[in-house]
Amino acid sequence: MNQFEEIQQLIGNLQAVISTEKVLLEDAFNRVLQEDVVADLNMPPFNKSAMDGYACRIEDIANELEVLEVINAGKIASVKIGKNQCVKIMTGAAVPPECDCVFMVEDSEELPENKVRCTNPKTKKNICYLGEDYKTGDVLLQKGTLINVPHMAVLAGAGYAEVLVSKRPKVTVIATGSELVPPSETPKPGQIRNSNSSQVISQLRKMNIEIVAELMLVDDYELLTESFNKALQSSDFIVFTGGASVGDFDFIPEILKEQGFKIYWDHTGIKPGNPMTFSERDGKFVFGLSGNPVSSLVQFELIAKPAIYNLMGTNYSPLRIKAPMGFNYQRKKANRLAIIPVIIDNNGAITEIPFHGSAHINALAFANALLEVPLEVSTIQKGELAYVRPL
Ligand code: AMP
Ligand code: MG
Repeated sequence: MNQFEEIQQLIGNLQAVISTEKVLLEDAFNRVLQEDVVADLNMPPFNKSAMDGYACRIEDIANELEVLEVINAGKIASVKIGKNQCVKIMTGAAVPPECDCVFMVEDSEELPENKVRCTNPKTKKNICYLGEDYKTGDVLLQKGTLINVPHMAVLAGAGYAEVLVSKRPKVTVIATGSELVPPSETPKPGQIRNSNSSQVISQLRKMNIEIVAELMLVDDYELLTESFNKALQSSDFIVFTGGASVGDFDFIPEILKEQGFKIYWDHTGIKPGNPMTFSERDGKFVFGLSGNPVSSLVQFELIAKPAIYNLMGTNYSPLRIKAPMGFNYQRKKANRLAIIPVIIDNNGAITEIPFHGSAHINALAFANALLEVPLEVSTIQKGELAYVRPL
């Protein structure tokens, strides 16, 4: 197993550490479901008309039919429908028990004396049958589901006015680097703007995570240690960027060790973004991402995101698809999994964009996917299939 595969296995084995709470249905979107959702009713709960039309007996379809009444959605028929009789019925209304067919308004011809005729002898029955979508007692959503838009409709349909979910984790984001200035400032010689914090924070916000603090700190061992310990008190997770490597001022791995954290890994086997620590002490987890913006983005996307989701109790498996290469790819060293920003065009082909490596975050502004070049693969020919992850 290579390094990245080992990391994926470790992530897969992480147990949830975030506790649960009941929230109102309206607050359940983009949270992790912590109970099975069970149907308390059949769906549909009655034989329901799928069309605006006329409900009758199929055996009478060729005959002139007497229209007894009009049933709109929410109503049930007040009369019995006999031979050569029908009711006018609206979409969503209960089909009377004597009827086994609804022919559409578009397939009807109104006749004098409150009569109607079906003009399509091959009409469909146009009935959604009781329980055809699901039955009472069916599990509609499983514990561990990340609640998306359709899930919100399922929850509502099943009467979950309150939903048991994982709490929103509390995270502190710490950008480290003595060269950093905030986006509002013009960097002096040797300085650069901190672009990682806004990137990481928006990644976390997309996951509905609460940012409790955002810090930007110089590479000072004592200051970093002190701020780290303070941040730990109010956070479930901490995400560092920068200082994760082996430079003279890369203090994060050292601080973590000194503070008694268990380091799960200190490199990823991915290019860009090899140096990265993942560590834990007493159920609190710390991500030490690279400082280079593309590296931190890739590390977050491929590693931190699934790890955090697992710690929240949901198994995150991003969509990866095989698509045809629209260009020839070649590299010299194939000792890591390479991740390359690309565009998947409207024909599904992988298109190259200019990319200069780990600092070139602007390349990502034009990308809509990440191309995966596996370990030990140094060339991929145009037309060959390769894995991409839509962004
Ligand atoms: P480091 O991982 O601290 O060695 O940083 C690697 C590279 O990323 C250096 O060129 C840093 O200047 C740059 N870098 C570090 N932190 C940030 C940040 N927050 N925003 C933009 N670039 C950064
Ligand atoms: Mg640094």
